[in-house]
Amino acid sequence: MTAREVYLDNSATTKMDPRVLEAMLPYWSENYGNPNSLHRRGREARSAVDAARASVAALINAEPADIIFTGAGSEADNLAVKGAAWALKAKGKGNHIITSAIEHHAILDSVKWLGRMGFEYTILPVDSKGMVSPEALEAAIRPDTVLVTILFANNEVGTIEPIKALGEVCRRHGVMFHTDAVQAAGHINIDVKELPVDMLTMAAHKMYGPKGIGALYVRRGVKLIPTLHGGGQEFGLRSGTENVAEIVGFGKAAEIAKARLEAGEDKKLAALRDYFIEGVLSSVPESYLTGATGEERLPFHTSFTVKYIEGEGMLLLLDAAGIAASSGSACTSGSLEPSYVLLALGLDHATAHGSLRMTMSHDTTKEDIDYVLEKLPQIVEKLRAMSPFYNKK
Ligand SMILES: *Cc1c(COP(=O)(O)O)cnc(C)c1O
Repeated sequence: MTAREVYLDNSATTKMDPRVLEAMLPYWSENYGNPNSLHRRGREARSAVDAARASVAALINAEPADIIFTGAGSEADNLAVKGAAWALKAKGKGNHIITSAIEHHAILDSVKWLGRMGFEYTILPVDSKGMVSPEALEAAIRPDTVLVTILFANNEVGTIEPIKALGEVCRRHGVMFHTDAVQAAGHINIDVKELPVDMLTMAAHKMYGPKGIGALYVRRGVKLIPTLHGGGQEFGLRSGTENVAEIVGFGKAAEIAKARLEAGEDKKLAALRDYFIEGVLSSVPESYLTGATGEERLPFHTSFTVKYIEGEGMLLLLDAAGIAASSGSACTSGSLEPSYVLLALGLDHATAHGSLRMTMSHDTTKEDIDYVLEKLPQIVEKLRAMSPFYNKK
């Protein structure tokens, strides 16, 4: 048994807030109605779904009718990209899509699949901080471009994209704009009345809610072709009886996130983040931050590369010390290819292999960080002593 457990993999998933679980429980037992039924049990479920839809909408200042619940963030991404691409192609608007090199696979693989279905696409590069340039986007737009999809904030390096400027480019050219905001929603302020976005993806489990429930914000007037056909739930865009308990959990998580943002807790977390980053960079020789800093970085996110060692080695020794972190160097697939995100930022393969991501939650304390800052330098030293790449100068 280890003395301390420090969970620093909140970009992968967060621990559900106990208040979320409490809100969900009745909808798995006594409140079992189908929201599409007209009797009392059904109406009770319908009003719970409606209330949750209003809470999720309020988090991004949207209208409740603009929120479509889906079975995951990935599903919302698929619905946005495929739904808009097919709908616009059917109207004869064109068949060209633009995305970035550092999207989540739910976007990249959807776009590439559309490529095999007869669409064309452009993948925009990013700079060394992981930023997509609005000028590069503007230059890539063609007369037949129908959709641009650029993520709000990247999961591996925490960089927040210039969504407003990117959206303005799309508006100027009359091109639909989607953003995958799974890492950003609930963590930074998002206001769809101010941002020129047409669609925006969220997922509850990245913001202290349950896994297996996502949402797509769809601005009024945007027409999509559904990816799931059937009973016509979710305004005809996502058939299947509503997952009432999970939707209720998402609603509660959104409500808590909104209260936290209003209380400025994101700023407190950002201060702890900067203390953490400074601590790692000053105690681990030849360690480098990946991604952006300050306001251009997610408040809970830190990511580094540590020269001359492999990410996996660090993860295993950190885990033995009770610290849960992650590395972009080997994906869930177990592949030994370095992270495509880090390569897109311009890192060489060897450096990308030494990546370490440590993402905090609102439960993370300064004591937790100090514990990591005590263990990490020892772990790095130990691994370097065994590394064939590390010759002491
Ligand atoms: C986690 C994540 C997703 C996928 O969400 P799921 O609910 O796990 O399917 C999509 N995009 C980004 C940026 C993510 O971090």
